[in-house]
Amino acid sequence: MDRWRPNRWLSRQDPDAARAAMVADQLRARGIADERVLQAMGAVPRDAFVPDDARRDAYADEALPIGAGQTISQPYMVALMTELLDVRPGDRILEIGTGSGYQAAVLAWLGARVTTLGRQARLIPEARARLEALGLGDSVEIRLADGSLGDPAGVPWDGIIVTAAAPAIPDALREQLADGGRLVIPVGPRGRQILTVVTRHGQEWTERPDGACVFVPLIGAGGFEA
Ligand code: SAH
Repeated sequence: MDRWRPNRWLSRQDPDAARAAMVADQLRARGIADERVLQAMGAVPRDAFVPDDARRDAYADEALPIGAGQTISQPYMVALMTELLDVRPGDRILEIGTGSGYQAAVLAWLGARVTTLGRQARLIPEARARLEALGLGDSVEIRLADGSLGDPAGVPWDGIIVTAAAPAIPDALREQLADGGRLVIPVGPRGRQILTVVTRHGQEWTERPDGACVFVPLIGAGGFEA
């Protein structure tokens, strides 16, 4: 069946033009306002992070399959989470859910020093190769690990971003934040979550919901059962 593709015209453009259109139409027009985030999204080639057969859809307004049953998040969601994380150059950021490495690349482009944990062994070398090809390899450490309880060895983290859905906010992640640090995490049952921002103030944590989202499940001790 030949399905209508709302973004077909985009796929005929060159990647640079498609990326610029993505930033204007999907991000700026929908309220992403942080100019540095818009610059990062306009600079990091998303087409380098999707499988060959999905390349024509790299700048589509949707999540895309990247193999092993996993997805690269919708561009808007990557931009929104990055904006909410409020990354400053030199920040030490923990990402849980490496996937394609695209989110890590955006954070590294913003000057963050990123540690990203993934649990799909076959995706890790691919993500590493992409980051190295873009010259971002030195800013990103990628490890195969269950990150559902964070990375205590690296505390305190200026920011933690979880790019998979958690049934509840793991206490371990709150505890691993630096004072003033931010945790951005989709929280809720499989199939529908609320994007949530947790900010640490000393021994207190504030929580702010930021709309609905849908992520693949976080699997492990702090997440769902496999
Ligand atoms: N941030 C990615 C997309 C993440 S998809 C990108 O930019 O492409 C969600 C990822 O979370 C999947 O790859 C999945 O394997 C991973 N994941 C799920 N549970 C995990 C856990 N406990 N620790 C680390 N990664 C996990």
